[in-house]
Parts: sequence; structure tokens; C-alpha cells
Amino acid sequence: MGAPVTTIRQVSAAPSLEIDLAAVSANTRRFVELARGDVMAVVKADGFGHGLGDVARTAIAAGARWIGVTSLAEAVAVRESGVDAPILSWLNPVDADLSLAVRYGIDVSVPSLEHLAAIDQAAPVPVHLQLDTGMSRDGASANSWLSLMSAARRAEVAGRIRVVGVMGHLACADTPGHPASAAGKRAFSRGVEMARQAGLRPSVRHLAATSAALTDPTTHLDMIRIGAGLVGIDPSGTTELKSALRFTAPVVQVRRVDAGTGVGYGHSHVTERATTLALLPVGYADGLPRAASGRGEVWLAGRRRPVVGVISMDQVVVDVGDDPVLPGDEAVVFGPGDSGEPTAEDWAQWAGTIPHEIVTGIGARVRRAVRWLTQ
Ligand SMILES: *Cc1c(COP(=O)(O)O)cnc(C)c1O
Repeated sequence: MGAPVTTIRQVSAAPSLEIDLAAVSANTRRFVELARGDVMAVVKADGFGHGLGDVARTAIAAGARWIGVTSLAEAVAVRESGVDAPILSWLNPVDADLSLAVRYGIDVSVPSLEHLAAIDQAAPVPVHLQLDTGMSRDGASANSWLSLMSAARRAEVAGRIRVVGVMGHLACADTPGHPASAAGKRAFSRGVEMARQAGLRPSVRHLAATSAALTDPTTHLDMIRIGAGLVGIDPSGTTELKSALRFTAPVVQVRRVDAGTGVGYGHSHVTERATTLALLPVGYADGLPRAASGRGEVWLAGRRRPVVGVISMDQVVVDVGDDPVLPGDEAVVFGPGDSGEPTAEDWAQWAGTIPHEIVTGIGARVRRAVRWLTQ
């Protein structure tokens, strides 16, 4: 029969996320040192979940010269957080409110003739012409590029735009030597050449994001656009960067159970022997991927411990064996990994995804605390 529930005391505390801006600063300086040109800090998706304004200001203070985002709303938020540096917004809809770009001093990408035709402000709008260099995603296709270049030149002469840059993006740069990267580089230099032949003088040519910046200096050109790398993620797996997040949750309840006890929804886990189960108030609504059920681990009471049963919306159960874990003890869900705790990369592997999705998926109710820890 089931053993009595030995709830010692109930602790009420939310999961929390500590963000170490010193790690962001150190990563930024690393890219500033290796870049052949300037560094743009890409702070889309709330600074990859690390705080839009905090990451933007930290990166600029550490030597980044530009900020990149994927909407005018994000660009305005960065400007209002106190950043004077140039800001580029891409992925804007054709009917985006470009008066914001003029008012806040924001450069915009131009990925199509429709986007170009929609630019009609009193002052010339600074633009970066965006070429599809092999993603089939958000740039202008190679066969529309020639007409886009002549239209851009006419718009520049008419005083509607000022061409600042040309941008591309590589699809397979996380696999060094991938043939798509060579093709993308060739497509990009042809695109820049066609811009020049049309009479345009783009001074900022930018193609590389984190992986290309780390593995192929010939992609650097005038600027590299770094997002993941600033927060310690290297998709190319070649470089050790600093993680900035520590995600913790307190144990709120402890119970002793017999062998053969089913745990959680569906009883996907049944205990093999008598053991102690600790309950953490953190679940998939807080960013723990449910797909990691049956594989995830946390650091608790000096060891890695398995998360058992299915990850619920608000809670998970951890098997701590016969160790004396108490309510109020802190579990580290993930951190930089220096002390044996799992990393965001570990959670990504357990869930079959990439660490970007883990760090940008932390839920809104998780308490955030900004720190300056690492040297
Ligand atoms: C997100 C993004 C980046 C940043 O990429 P990372 O690999 O995170 O450095 C750069 N350029 C474009 C167009 C992007 O969308």
C-alpha cells in the first residue's frame, strides 16, 4: 500500500531566472576582437530571452556598433532603452509604419519592390537592400534583384531612400564547409556588384551571423550580425562561449513512495524501488519542454537527478533516491554547467531541439533578476 505522504512544510516560491550580463559583455568583446569589420548585436525575441534593452546596452558598451531586430516595435523599444547606436529592423511588413523609422532613427531592410514602393516619408529612409542568398525566406529573390536595384537607385535619386547597406543570410553556416555557404557568398558578391552597377554605394555589406562569423572570416565583410553568440550559444560547435542564464526552482514538497508507484499523468514512470520524490513548481508553461519528459535532469542536493514522469504545465517531479532533500532546497534546472548542473544545450538535446528555443521559451511568470557575475 502507498506510504504516507511526508510533506514536511510547504514553500511558496516561483521559479527564477538569473541573467548574467557580464557573460554577454565577455561574448560581445570576443566577437568585436575577431570581427574584420563592425559587430551588430541582434537582440530580437527579447534579446534571445535575456532582456532586450539589457542585452542591447551591454553589447554596445562592450564594443558592438549596431543593433539588429526583426520589428519596428523592437527597434523603438531598444531606442527608448537608451541606445544611441544605429539600429536596423528587418522582417517589416509592407505596410509597416515607417514614420517610426524616421522619428526614432531606425534603418529598415528592403526585401522587395513592394516594400520599396511603400516608402514615402518626408525624409529619406536609410535602407539595407536584402538579398536571398539561399534561404528562400526573407530576402529578395535573385531574379528580382536587378529590377530592385534600378528601382532603389531611382528612389535614392528622388530622395525617398538612402542606401546604407546590402544584407544576406546563410542557410547552412553551422556546418563549416557546406557547399550552400560558398554558393551564398557568390550570390552575395554578385548582388553587391549589381547594386554598384546600378549606381548605388552601400557602405555596410553584411552576410554572417554567429556560425559564419566563428568559422569563416571571408564572410565578415563590413559587419557581422551576432545574436546567439552574444548569449553563449555557438551553433557551429567550434567555440566555447559564456552562458548567461541560471534557471532555478525551489523544492516545494517532498514525499516518500513505495516501489511500484506511478508518477504523474499517464503513469509513464513507475518507481522501481522505494524512493523520495521532490516536487518543483516549474513546468512547460515556464519553458521546460514537455518533449524532454523521461530524459530531463536537474541539479539538486549536489547531484544530477532525473525528472520522472511527464513534465506538467506547472510542475515536475524529481527522484532524489534516499537523499535528505527538503522543501526550500534549490534545484538548478539549467545554468552555465560549471558546477555539474545541466545546460540549456542539455535540455535542447533531451527535447530534440536547439538551445535557442530553450532560452527564448522561458515563460512570463518566471521571476527575472539581472546580475553582473562572470569576469
Ligand atoms: C537572427 C538573425 C541573425 C542572428 O543569428 P545568430 O545565428 O543568432 O547569430 C542574423 N541575421 C538574421 C537575418 C537573423 O534573422
